[in-house]
Amino acid sequence: MPEGPEIRKAADKVAAAIVGKKVLKLEFGLAHLKAHESHFKGMTIKAVDTFGKAMVTRFEHPINRERLNIYSHNQLYGRWLCCPANQPPASTRQLRLGIYTEDQWALLYSASDIFVLTDEEVRQHPFIKKLGKDVLNPETTVEDVLAQLQSATYYNRQLGGFLTEQSFLAGLGNYLRCDILFSAGVLPTRKPAELSPQTLRKLAHEILRIPRQSYQTESITNDPVTVKKLLAEGSSLEHARFMVFHREGLPCYQCGKPIIKKNTGSQPCYICESCQK
Ligand SMILES: [Zn+2]
Repeated sequence: MPEGPEIRKAADKVAAAIVGKKVLKLEFGLAHLKAHESHFKGMTIKAVDTFGKAMVTRFEHPINRERLNIYSHNQLYGRWLCCPANQPPASTRQLRLGIYTEDQWALLYSASDIFVLTDEEVRQHPFIKKLGKDVLNPETTVEDVLAQLQSATYYNRQLGGFLTEQSFLAGLGNYLRCDILFSAGVLPTRKPAELSPQTLRKLAHEILRIPRQSYQTESITNDPVTVKKLLAEGSSLEHARFMVFHREGLPCYQCGKPIIKKNTGSQPCYICESCQK
């Protein structure tokens, strides 16, 4: 499943294609949303916001200032594609939302989690309402993360169990969880209560640093110098981009011991038993 950085990058692409433009036509591929289509005609696309893994495309009417939003969550299969007007990509996927402007189209395929909401309904949406602070929001600080780790809700729970809960912080998924824990040198079975103040601070720092690096790059969490060296040696980006995620049996970049895959909750965690304590 795409995680916060991938959704934000998709939102950036959609925003670059359509924000500031007028809707010529808007089309839903889900029967229960068809009645909303005409409401968007003539509105201007104001912004494409992200809330963790959810996206909210914001519209406003230039004359009567009426505002509307489309909430979408890609889940596993949703995919945004942008293209010049009248040049849709060849796709066998089902079109679920088409936003058509004079020169650019933004098309959402396969997603089924789509709602038309007012501003207030966006704030009250059950998914958005329970979200913690977003790791990609520049206003989220290491102190905010430390406060969450030390709060009664999480202090005595295993890190591997809650790091991807969107109420802890929004935007973390499994590849980020695995590489954050490795980078902080802690095992997923550890609880914040068991960590030294220095380790806890290091963990809080990595929880923000790694998703932000991933967002700024092609979803690379590994050390950029190591990645450059690996690519020069002929490695594929797919193999070089992560520290431990999807690297079962391969040597740890720090100590050379094989990475192992442990089943923790619903998703496996990749760890180095030598580097993580
Ligand atoms: Zn290691």
